[in-house]
Amino acid sequence: MESINVNESISKNADFIEQIGVESGQPVQKCYQCGKCTAGCPLAFEMDYPPHQVIRMVQLGMKDALLKSNTIWICSSCSTCSTRCPCNVEIAHVMESLRIMAGRSGTAPAGKAKYVEVMYNALLSTVEKYGRTYEVGLVMQNNLKSGKLFNGADMGLPMFQRGKLKLMPSKVQGAAEVARIFAEVRKMEGGVK
Ligand code: SF4
Ligand code: SF4
Repeated sequence: MESINVNESISKNADFIEQIGVESGQPVQKCYQCGKCTAGCPLAFEMDYPPHQVIRMVQLGMKDALLKSNTIWICSSCSTCSTRCPCNVEIAHVMESLRIMAGRSGTAPAGKAKYVEVMYNALLSTVEKYGRTYEVGLVMQNNLKSGKLFNGADMGLPMFQRGKLKLMPSKVQGAAEVARIFAEVRKMEGGVK
């Protein structure tokens, strides 16, 4: 973790610290750095900052480093960390709030994490449109945006031949309601897509 002037960082980023607490609904300030979350995280080895450091960085107001980190995109929201936390911090919610904030601020993830962001946004857009995931559309969007046009083709063809993939999307009953929820959330977030 980069060295910082702690008091300066906390006072400069007080709004950020408060906002993450409010948006995630998590008692981030209770964390006393026991490290149990990181010990249980199955993806910590791929993260630039492990979960306990992320929480510490929130406490210290290290907004820029957090929004640029790959950790917030690598986290799979499995919640293994939360089941171990003695302070009941649901770290996956904190990661989610940081991802949303990174999206709002236009901070693009670097390295491998950018493919996670592309897949994340593609997944949400198919759910918004059809009320469910549409795997073929998801893969197509992901491949177009990541520039890897034939990524996954080796797996897709056998799945299609076995009837596991549908070429055309189908909407669930209530898809309009799902779209309405997306619109409401966007309104609550101030119209940010
Ligand atoms: S929710 Fe994220 S941080 Fe927590 S254990 Fe799972 S991958 Fe790791
Ligand atoms: S398990 Fe909880 S208290 Fe321990 S370091 Fe992680 S977030 Fe902090």
